[in-house]
Amino acid sequence: MSDKVLLITGGTRGIGAATARAAAAAGWKLALSYRRDEASAERMRRALEAEGAEAATFQADVGREIDVLRLFDEVDRRFGRLDGLVNNAGVTAPISRLADFDAERVERVLRVNVLGVILCCREAVRRMARERGGRGGAIVNVSSAASRLGSACEYIDYAASKGAVDTLTVGLAREAAADGIRVNAVRPGLINTDIHESSGEAGRVVRLAPGVPLQRGGEPEEVAAAIVWLLSDAASFCTGSLLDVSGGR
Ligand code: NAP
Repeated sequence: MSDKVLLITGGTRGIGAATARAAAAAGWKLALSYRRDEASAERMRRALEAEGAEAATFQADVGREIDVLRLFDEVDRRFGRLDGLVNNAGVTAPISRLADFDAERVERVLRVNVLGVILCCREAVRRMARERGGRGGAIVNVSSAASRLGSACEYIDYAASKGAVDTLTVGLAREAAADGIRVNAVRPGLINTDIHESSGEAGRVVRLAPGVPLQRGGEPEEVAAAIVWLLSDAASFCTGSLLDVSGGR
């Protein structure tokens, strides 16, 4: 096992949890944040520890700066270093057309998916940048195929937030390269997690799967494998990459 520490936001359910399991198997020590589902967080921590991994969970809403600052301080205190960040926490909104959006839903999506990712990147760069005394590191942002497809008649605000994540990934990759920090993104397609239920259509993956060239939805583990690879030294010449994990969609 290495001493390297990885923070995964929203690392206790769905794609984040699968990434935590894959990263633990690859030897990372794990800091996992969640917003409110403490029971899932506790189950996840126990399961990882039962496998021999070192893991800790932290409550923090990534859309609130005060929470992000506290999260990174707590990770500093618990582990004393940070080598990787996966910006996985993200939310959709109820399926709706743009003409029916209210400002509150749009603000919530942008706050978590854009502001949250920017703030977490900032805190990670402050700790990892060689110019600031850090050891370098790797960041993977979890974007979405929605950034290419636009999510018409579903949640254009969500798709736009992921477009921002793609642009941030390219820009920060160039800005932080000389500081030894690689920054990449994965763009999952339709993946079987609870996020679809929270947008009001639990069966969304089944409905849309026939339109996926590979003819099915993906599993969180299939996204996790791409994320853990991008974090690893095997991806040492990848930065600013947007890796589609979407079954060809
Ligand atoms: P999920 O099953 O709904 O899990 C979301 C995780 O993020 C949970 O751990 C949740 O915490 C956490 N979270 C949500 N809002 C948060 C906040 N404000 N602060 C901190 N943590 C927060 O979602 P998922 O499907 O695994 O999605 C993970 C990422 O993949 C998201 O960025 C999503 O946009 C992206 N993605 C998903 C799909 C898909 O089809 N599933 C496709 C493309 C992209 P609690 O457990 O406390 O609620």
